[in-house]
Amino acid sequence: MSFKSGYIGLVGLPNAGKSTLLNTILKSKVAIVSPKAQTTRHVIVGIHNSENSQFVFLDTPGFHQVGDGLSKQMVKATTVTIPDVDLIYFIVDGKRKPGQHDKRLLTLIESANKKVFLILNKIDQLNKEELLNQLTLWADLHQFNEIVPISALNNDNIDRLLQVTSNYMPEGHPFYLNDTLTTQTEHMIISEIIREKIIHLTNQEVPHSIAVVLDELEFLENRLKVMATVVVDRDSQKGILIGKAGQKKNEIIKQASIELRRLYQVKVNLQLFVKVEKNWRNKQSRLTEYGYDPSKQ
Ligand code: GDP
Ligand code: MG
Repeated sequence: MSFKSGYIGLVGLPNAGKSTLLNTILKSKVAIVSPKAQTTRHVIVGIHNSENSQFVFLDTPGFHQVGDGLSKQMVKATTVTIPDVDLIYFIVDGKRKPGQHDKRLLTLIESANKKVFLILNKIDQLNKEELLNQLTLWADLHQFNEIVPISALNNDNIDRLLQVTSNYMPEGHPFYLNDTLTTQTEHMIISEIIREKIIHLTNQEVPHSIAVVLDELEFLENRLKVMATVVVDRDSQKGILIGKAGQKKNEIIKQASIELRRLYQVKVNLQLFVKVEKNWRNKQSRLTEYGYDPSKQ
């Protein structure tokens, strides 16, 4: 039997259930989640392996809907994710009616000329008649390659989704070795989230290449405890990071905690230290210690 491998982009409005779906898919099989280091966006890469396939999912979490508008950031994330993928899951909250933002996302998808599945999520909240009505409404929007009703939360119809997905994946070798990234995965995700907040909140006044090292990471019952050190190479950068009376640092902690709480669904206890180490970027041996593998950048 041939091996199938490909990239799948999860696209949809905030709250549609993209992250829930990714988590459900990954839990059901040997799975890897890792952040892809990027400065303009934070893409979660989730890898689903089976005996004869490897699907690499790209999710773009952490977008906030401002008012009822579709944020620019989200449009941007969607447009950067789409060109890389073989298939798009257009995920919708099955209880909602299609709106202008969905149409806008579909326009973006259409311009990329990709295969698209309509994933009607949250069917656990619909009765049969409602489900049929909703499917008809949404199916009208676009010539979808497949329409798959699911409940990401209840793991309903996910097996079928993966089966159908396989039909649309190209034949090829796996992109990732089965066991790559399994070590330190959680470390990478968490330090990347902190790094992203720093870059964002300092208006890019500190270089993207700062390292965030996790000194301690503990998953306790209902609580995540993180102690992290940010390594910069100049005193001035340390000043910017800490801010007047520690305000900037506190804001970084706050924003990172919000995102971590959303990701892991637990209370977050995050402590942050800033350390100056001149020219650390040149010290190759330190790069590995700080969790950077230049071959993966
Ligand atoms: P995202 O913004 O698209 O990543 O959406 P999330 O995965 O964060 O989910 C948003 C909310 O919808 C969360 O409260 C989920 O628990 C909920 N949700 C996701 N999938 C389902 C589902 O299948 N059924 C129900 N009832 N709720 C769901
Ligand atoms: Mg999400």
